[in-house]
Amino acid sequence: MNNPLLDFSDLPLFDQIRPEHVTPALDALLADAETALSTVTAPEFPAQWAAIAGVLDIATEHLGRAWGAVSHLNSVADTPELRTAFNAVLPKVTEFWTRLGADERLYAKYKAIDPASLNAEQKQAHKNAMRNFVLGGAELTGVDRERFAQIQERQAELAQKFSENALDATDAFAYYAAEAELEGVPDDVRQTALAAATAEGKEGHKLTLKMPCYLPVMQFAKSSGLRQVLYRAYVTRASDQADGESVKFDNSALIREILALRQEEAKLLGYVNFGEVSVVPKMAESPRQIITFLRDLAKKARPYAERDVADLREFAAKNLGIPDPQPWDWPYISEKLKEARYAFSEQEVKQYFTAPKVLAGLFKIIETLFEVSIRLDSAPVWHPAVAFYRIERGSDLVGQFYLDQPARAGKRGGAWMDDVRARWLRPDTGRLQTPVAHLVCNFADGVGGRPPLLTHDDVTTLFHEFGHGLHHMLTKVNERDVSGISGVEWDAVELPSQFMENFCWEWDVLKHMTAHVETGEPLPRTLFDKMTAAKNYQSGMQTLRQIEFALFDMLLHTEHDPSRDFMPLLDLVRAEVAVLQPPAFSRTAHTFSHIFAGGYAAGYYSYKWAEVLSADAYAAFEETVGKDGSPNVETGRKYRESILEAGGSRPAMESFKAFRGREPSLDALLRHQGMA
Ligand SMILES: [Zn+2]
Repeated sequence: MNNPLLDFSDLPLFDQIRPEHVTPALDALLADAETALSTVTAPEFPAQWAAIAGVLDIATEHLGRAWGAVSHLNSVADTPELRTAFNAVLPKVTEFWTRLGADERLYAKYKAIDPASLNAEQKQAHKNAMRNFVLGGAELTGVDRERFAQIQERQAELAQKFSENALDATDAFAYYAAEAELEGVPDDVRQTALAAATAEGKEGHKLTLKMPCYLPVMQFAKSSGLRQVLYRAYVTRASDQADGESVKFDNSALIREILALRQEEAKLLGYVNFGEVSVVPKMAESPRQIITFLRDLAKKARPYAERDVADLREFAAKNLGIPDPQPWDWPYISEKLKEARYAFSEQEVKQYFTAPKVLAGLFKIIETLFEVSIRLDSAPVWHPAVAFYRIERGSDLVGQFYLDQPARAGKRGGAWMDDVRARWLRPDTGRLQTPVAHLVCNFADGVGGRPPLLTHDDVTTLFHEFGHGLHHMLTKVNERDVSGISGVEWDAVELPSQFMENFCWEWDVLKHMTAHVETGEPLPRTLFDKMTAAKNYQSGMQTLRQIEFALFDMLLHTEHDPSRDFMPLLDLVRAEVAVLQPPAFSRTAHTFSHIFAGGYAAGYYSYKWAEVLSADAYAAFEETVGKDGSPNVETGRKYRESILEAGGSRPAMESFKAFRGREPSLDALLRHQGMA
């Protein structure tokens, strides 16, 4: 029993976990969970919430925590040995969770629970569990049940193939440009392209469709001809319009089959279309409501988007000698206008954001607004750079978190929040378990003994992830499956994270969390003003672009007949929404992985939806801000109690209304993005 993954007495023993512990521990925990499932589904076992939780939830929580620790290490401290161990166990763990979610015996047991025996939190958790069983096909019988399972399996295959085609089509393209064609392209991009061509024994510079190459070429290359070549290849990826050999990656047939299967799945579940299925576990009430929301927002953004285009046309004609811009000219014109209007460099901004100063500023806001204190603590960690903190209110421990800031080899890119354990009144010990979170970033290390310097984007990311972390850690819910972010609707889960981002644009906040790395001076107001002005550059166009995707997605899964071609629908949506009409050969749907290979089918609107919520929530702070610019503590308390503490224990709309006293409105978002 000296396997650290099987020690659940307190925090994970990250410093002791080795690859050889993974398989034995997970095998044991999977066997325990299997036994627990058999126990609670036996005919004689009582259909009582606490009785089931006391056996099954204890076993699944241990499994989840141990697997969480392994997955975490796989993400932040990857080694070949750990990866092998992880991959060996992954299919077994996935298979167990999938089977648990559709177990008809367990569904029957939950169904037999008397709702009158449940407290409010348990009622919500029970409701969610029942809903998930139904959407997982647990009510189906006979041939329908078999067909439902086949559809799921086929959909997984198609999604995988869709991604592979998109990736392979991107990788298949290369253009070897001569030095003379690359005027305007940044040096680092050129050097990488030269090295790539040389490595293949080819002449020139190898340009690809991958973002770090494609984007700067489109933004900076002076040659319209070169941009045209890349643009055409990019927007025809994985489609019938692709050139030559690449047409073999065409996703058209896959898309048609995916849409038909989703329609069939919806019918089996008793819904008219997949859009109706998608909204069941979400905050939005119906596809109709979402479509109206998107069209309403489009109408408000349109005048601003039209002005953006007019500005670009005028600038292109007057300053760049491009009187009739083509689709591949817009990113270039856009970048040139941006430079002309808001000249300042990210490099200059970075000098003011040192990591320790930013972190201190962030902690100060959290402590003031949410009436807690954050203190450095210690715990077993996976790397010396990791810090561990505790959040307290008075003498009470509220939660704890690991903060892993620097990028390093073996650590996955990006930033994220993950849970280590949830707040839970444990049915086995009867004691309250406090929540613990991971906060992971990938910031550049400090050089020459100086502290790490963050870009303003890094700072925003840090605040965003802390928003998720606070949602997880400040909850007051005692029921595991609805505590913190658990059970929160998908289209509302980004509210607390995007909410926190707003502070990164407040002068009164920024001036206290900046100090020039050499002089110690705070960020100059003039530089801040330039940053703010640039923030809303082309927000009208960007909003319409997002709405074009979201509206196409929702109409595709509601009004569209899957037996017909989907391109005419995309053309209609573009004609309705876009201010710059793409050329007829453009096939952006064919690489729309969010909805064809990700979890966003009939859900892409969630991005804009949550933005409306977070902007409107933040407006409550703008309305009550003090004369000295400090946020109002009363408002902070109300926000904390209504939204953060309630977690998933009630519908997000109820939480929002408890905070704002009304339903969300578009006004704050439009104002924040300069469209009011
Ligand atoms: Zn997020």
